[in-house]
Amino acid sequence: MSQQGYVATPPYSQSQPGIGLSPPHYGHYGDPSHAASPPGMMKPAGPLGTTAPGVMLPPGPPPPGPHQFGQNGAHASGHPLQRFPGPPPVNSVAPSYAPYEPSTQSSYSSLVSTSSITQLGHQLSAMQVNSYGSGMAPPSQGPPGLLSAASFQSPPRPQQPSVLQPGSQVLPPPTTTLNGPGASPLSPPALRQDGPPGPASLNAQYQPPPLPGQTLGTGYPPQQAANYGPQVAGTQLSYPGGFPGEPAQMAGPPQPQKKLDLDSVPGPIQVIENDRATRGGQVYATNTRGQIPPLVTTDCVIQDQGNASPRYIRCTTYCFPCTSDMAKQAQIPLAAVIKPFATIPSNETPLYLVNHGENGPVRCNRCKAYMCPFMQFIEGGRRYQCGFCNCVNDVPPFYFQHLDHMGRRLDHYEKPELSLGSYEYVATLDYCRNNKPPNPPAFIFMIDVSYSNIKNGLVKLICEELKTMLENLPKEEQEETSAIRVGFITYNKVLHFFNVKSNLAQPQMMVVTDVGEVFVPLLDGFLVNCQESQSVIHNLLDQIPEMFADSNENETVFAPIIQAGMEALKAADCPGKLFIFHSSLPTAEAPGKLKNRDDKKLVNTDKEKILFQPQTNVYESLAKDCVAHGCSVTLFLFPSQYVDVASLGLVPQLTGGTLYKYNNFQMHLDSQQFLNDLRNDIEKKIGFDAIMRVRTSTGFRATDFFGGVFMNNTTDVEMAAIDCDKAVTVEFKHDDKLSEDSGALIQCAVLYTTIGGQRRLRIHNLGLNCSSQLADLYKSCETDALINFFAKSAFKAVLHQPLKVIREILVNQTAHMLACYRKNCASPSAASQLILPDSMKVLPVYMNCLLKNCVLLSRPEISTDERAYQRQLVLTMGVADSQLFFYPQLLPIHTLDVKSTMLPAAIRCSESRLSEEGIFLLANGLNMFLWLGVSSPPELIQGIFNVPSFAHINADMTVLPEVGSPYSQQLRMIMSVIQQKRPYSMKITLSSLALFCSLGAAQVYLH
Ligand SMILES: [Zn+2]
Repeated sequence: MSQQGYVATPPYSQSQPGIGLSPPHYGHYGDPSHAASPPGMMKPAGPLGTTAPGVMLPPGPPPPGPHQFGQNGAHASGHPLQRFPGPPPVNSVAPSYAPYEPSTQSSYSSLVSTSSITQLGHQLSAMQVNSYGSGMAPPSQGPPGLLSAASFQSPPRPQQPSVLQPGSQVLPPPTTTLNGPGASPLSPPALRQDGPPGPASLNAQYQPPPLPGQTLGTGYPPQQAANYGPQVAGTQLSYPGGFPGEPAQMAGPPQPQKKLDLDSVPGPIQVIENDRATRGGQVYATNTRGQIPPLVTTDCVIQDQGNASPRYIRCTTYCFPCTSDMAKQAQIPLAAVIKPFATIPSNETPLYLVNHGENGPVRCNRCKAYMCPFMQFIEGGRRYQCGFCNCVNDVPPFYFQHLDHMGRRLDHYEKPELSLGSYEYVATLDYCRNNKPPNPPAFIFMIDVSYSNIKNGLVKLICEELKTMLENLPKEEQEETSAIRVGFITYNKVLHFFNVKSNLAQPQMMVVTDVGEVFVPLLDGFLVNCQESQSVIHNLLDQIPEMFADSNENETVFAPIIQAGMEALKAADCPGKLFIFHSSLPTAEAPGKLKNRDDKKLVNTDKEKILFQPQTNVYESLAKDCVAHGCSVTLFLFPSQYVDVASLGLVPQLTGGTLYKYNNFQMHLDSQQFLNDLRNDIEKKIGFDAIMRVRTSTGFRATDFFGGVFMNNTTDVEMAAIDCDKAVTVEFKHDDKLSEDSGALIQCAVLYTTIGGQRRLRIHNLGLNCSSQLADLYKSCETDALINFFAKSAFKAVLHQPLKVIREILVNQTAHMLACYRKNCASPSAASQLILPDSMKVLPVYMNCLLKNCVLLSRPEISTDERAYQRQLVLTMGVADSQLFFYPQLLPIHTLDVKSTMLPAAIRCSESRLSEEGIFLLANGLNMFLWLGVSSPPELIQGIFNVPSFAHINADMTVLPEVGSPYSQQLRMIMSVIQQKRPYSMKITLSSLALFCSLGAAQVYLH
């Protein structure tokens, strides 16, 4: 196992037919069938123009087309020509790194000894197993005031004593790691994670006031040095990051304290705070190839100066290894997490829109890459060399421009596609289905009106709220009204279509009972303009709850609903989105009928993967049809028992839709969360009928894609829709050698239909560095993106492999990555010592969090549906969302400064940080838990809940009361800040020490 490593896809490579592609793992595993294909073969002509000859550049001189260059946003005109002061270092030469000590390039096995890998693997395993086991311990077993279980408090595993050496300690970092360009801003010595206390003011903010009998927070207690026993030299305190569970922490006889001192282990909080302190609030200009962006947790203003904003693309490393051998040696996944429709804050420039009229976008003749800052103009501007395939192309006459003395076009700054990393093109008819401009999309609302939904008031709630929500349908910014049409269907075991044409006095219902072969009984009057038909629609929404008030129908269908929606969109010749509100296992006789196959006996067996697979292939072929017709499906589930999320969720997943789940929905507790989600989903920015293509410069290529995507071939990522919260993670592999000079270039092009019905191309370009030095690779990594990749690749693999194998692969690959660093980039050290690259300081902690996720590690209290649900959510997450999901924010509320507008400093997400005297807020992007210690200060309880004591709190509340006190206002403000920009509305759950054991869900997130 230890030699197998992970390297992304290989062990996971049994893709589902038709869903993912089966990525070759050439190079790493020596698969000859993929190793030697010529580059031209690797990059067949692009998706976005393979069909139409018109996409090719016109041979003759076309009439000079309009060189329109407008902005998507409000500032459509009058933008300054010279947007960026100073010489633009776009695509500039890579920063030259100081020569690093030569590293050997021999084969992997000789580089890293099996023993050290095994040892690392054991350490990681120990973290996971121990922490999970002890994490389940009831609080009564712990010392008073503290929950006993903590991730890192477990005693060392018996397998490891051989590596425990008195006096061993992690070494100080190699200077090259610390001082290389790119690394230094991230790691000023004064802020080092485990270094000697830095400036007092900085430390102070990490250190909440200690509570009686314990030390909270991640500060530097003065007694820290004592943990190091005999080794007292200053250098030993400034190691780049100790390893949780690292033997040195427990070394040195006599050992009075068996438990690990958490404060001496590198913690995510401090890494996050350090990045905020050094890079927060600043302008981050994307003008340098291969530069490492601020962490996702750091707020800054991003200025596009030739590379796509990290809001759109983040990479696991910003410096690719030059050769596949080197990639194999380091085993660091080479991947990009692309969120093409990411929301851009109002203080950043929205994307410019380029319109070349009938000429369409300028593209390389050979690889079809779009004009971008990576194209090099030559021969006085008459030709250009493609940065991706090196082909020399003629500049089409309409696009000709002279060059300046630097060889740069005179209109460099006037054209977004020459100077910016991201921009949009207006697409020509060649890019449209059947060469016809698309119709604006439609939204179809499909409400399950079976007995339980009527009885619990859900149908009434949906109908009532839709009236106002439909007034806020998304629209193009320059338009006054939305172009989106709407339609309505209700269903139980039959389907009811409604005619809501504006000239009707009353809506008309048409029932379709043949659910075996659904047809759409009406075209005219089904999809309507909301404003024109407002009174008929309101009439309908008022009537629906009463229409079915006496229904006793319990059975529902599911696949026929999706089929009906898709057929309706097809008939109307438009893309669109289905909003389905569904509650039960579809047991009615119809295609896609499901049975309850939940079987806890499969857990922890090799057959556990079956629980994650759909129980019929109906949904996969339905998803395929939906994608082919631009029909995206968003599903709101309200289950009171097992509904088979693995089956029902497949269509939403593969069509770029979203799955929401509200267990045991209760009107008075859960409606707010549901309505927030519904409102947000209706209004969010979205593109329809999309095809994404990721092009790369020669030497490497995209080999695997993870996300809400459908692949009909190996290169075109098809999405019925993609919204602002969805990310696709793309893995890259080497074809050939990469050059340090030209770097590794990525261009992501998404062809899509806007909400107004315009066909557009959205282009994101990113240049990465390449190096033959492993140290450069390691110092350019981004752990948050790595975890996003590992999570998605592992969660995809869950369908095919035993979970135990997947966990082992993750552990082993982490060990491999760290062992390679140690072997090649760090000074020689004893076997028991471990050195973490600065960029991966928290990788072991985050990996531990991933390993403890309920998808990879079953827990008795977590249902099969919940696991399938979390699996699906993670598959489409961007880096910011996966970071919060796997390492939730834990805020001590009892230390609130009511006069401050700042969030309280987060503390490490560990049970040991909770105390009976405190109140803590835990948020992971799906849920918020307000954890109340039984001895929390009465004035706080009064201030937040307006009740005199802990005992008076209503533990069922899901919304905090508006008390009007400073504490209440402050806490509610904090919650709304955390909620901002998150795709899912987080319901608040109260929990206390007494309730803690029963709240398994909370425990899942306390590592
Ligand atoms: Zn090219």
